[in-house]
Amino acid sequence: MTNKDLANLMFPSIKHDTDFYENKYKERNLKEGAIVTRYAPSPTGFVHMGALYASFIASHMAHQTDGIMFLRIEDTDQERKVENGVVSIIKDLNDFGIAFDEGMTSEDDEIGEYGPYTQSKRKEIYQTYVKSLVEKGLAYPCFCTKEELDKIREDQAKIKTRIGYYGNWAKYRNLSIDEAITRIKNGEEYVVRLKSPGDFNRKIRVKDCIRGVIEFPEHDIDDVILKRDGLPTYHFAHAIDDHLMHTTHVIRGDEWVSSLPLHIQLFQVLGFKAPKYAHISPLEKIDGDVRRKLSKRKDPEAAVSYYAKQGIPKEAVMIYLATVSNSNFERWFETNPKASLNDFKMEFNKMSKSGSLFDLEKLLNISKNYISKLPATKVYDDALTWASEYDDELKDLLVKYKEYSTNIFNIERERKKPRKDYSSYSDIKNQIWYMFDELYNPNDEDYEFGKINDYNEIKTILDEYINNYYNEEDDESTWFNRMKELCDKLGYASDMKQYKEDPSKFKGNVADVSIVLRVALTTKAMTPNLYDIMKLLGYNRIKDRYNKFITK
Ligand code: GLU
Repeated sequence: MTNKDLANLMFPSIKHDTDFYENKYKERNLKEGAIVTRYAPSPTGFVHMGALYASFIASHMAHQTDGIMFLRIEDTDQERKVENGVVSIIKDLNDFGIAFDEGMTSEDDEIGEYGPYTQSKRKEIYQTYVKSLVEKGLAYPCFCTKEELDKIREDQAKIKTRIGYYGNWAKYRNLSIDEAITRIKNGEEYVVRLKSPGDFNRKIRVKDCIRGVIEFPEHDIDDVILKRDGLPTYHFAHAIDDHLMHTTHVIRGDEWVSSLPLHIQLFQVLGFKAPKYAHISPLEKIDGDVRRKLSKRKDPEAAVSYYAKQGIPKEAVMIYLATVSNSNFERWFETNPKASLNDFKMEFNKMSKSGSLFDLEKLLNISKNYISKLPATKVYDDALTWASEYDDELKDLLVKYKEYSTNIFNIERERKKPRKDYSSYSDIKNQIWYMFDELYNPNDEDYEFGKINDYNEIKTILDEYINNYYNEEDDESTWFNRMKELCDKLGYASDMKQYKEDPSKFKGNVADVSIVLRVALTTKAMTPNLYDIMKLLGYNRIKDRYNKFITK
């Protein structure tokens, strides 16, 4: 009996040989230097920030070289599958502007010439290649039971040697073909393992596009390539898929670096040219004294869904991720503030070789900056879109007071240095709740008065101001002059220079008075421009709020 007999017995229904697939999936016709890469998630439905980050980099690298970015679903571990997992991954990434040129477009549909793009539908392809390895004596059936595997591990631990299924420990590696055939015919279950040609005492050197050359001991473990259920392991599927799909660059998270010796070996044994690898360093955060990976379990901001819920614009998230990805992005963005992210030339050698700090504060700052530069009408639209899903109260107010709200968003906006009030749409109510009577209901302790604290003095200022000095029709400079007149009348300095020369001559100054006017109207000592606020609130509302305060 020969290896060929064994292979035929193991794969009775495989009808093609590997040449069939080699011919079917032709070289891609792309321009020189085009990067073909992929995002290859398990269909768990959850998209981690790190995955968005990696797929952003992959997609950017592909598209800036006129290459291809495709979506492959890696569902060989059927237990991790989640209903509608694929659709939800596609949607989450799409929301952040990541689109695929090829691959899965829903649970069952796909586009592209290199499919199927879901691994569970490629069983026959994998088996064809496993069969050819068995024929060549490069892979073999392994009948190890769980007990046998445990025993090997125990024996290895006892004599303190390296744990694993390799060399002489690989019990079924040298089983005779006849015996293997007999066992299969007897119905014994088995997996297929690679007969690793590696020698642990030799070194290999692998060049990673981001990390440079990495040295490893050669891989010598006879890894499982086909499981009992006839599906491949992730590693084997990776080699077959990225070969047949003509991936030029495998861009993925660095948790796979340690698998490189195996992956390189698989490509060698299969006779394929290995792709280039770029392992992206993980997103990390500072947690007290430690710096650790951003964790799905501990950090709400690790889920991409967090940003939509918080109302943090996706554009801001992407600007932030670009900042994290390339050390020269921030400079570039400062010099090209109007440019599209797509115009940035991303480079592997400007990426971090170890962890990248993910700083939510910095992201929020970028977001604040981003929102501050939008036209007020866009802020209104986006705020309404967000509120429609997450905040009914805000939604109702925005719908009811469209123009009024837009005007609020417009305060100090159309200037060279616009005001930065909101880092997210969920921040709006916190910042400007006092502009809406529906939300304005302060208690005594809410008022943050400054220097002028005497209740009767405050009453006098408010009373005088609303009855004798405030006029809705005034332009800003007249409005300010009137406030100064009030100061003169009540013994406050209307001129700061005079005040500084001899403060003892005055009860205080115009700034102190304006704080009183502001706080009694909004409860807050810091707000956008008081003139604009008063203008929007209008005479009646101001009078009403001051009177309420006075009669307390
Ligand atoms: N399915 C693997 C994962 O979810 C993909 C690794 C790769 O990109 O090669 O991490």
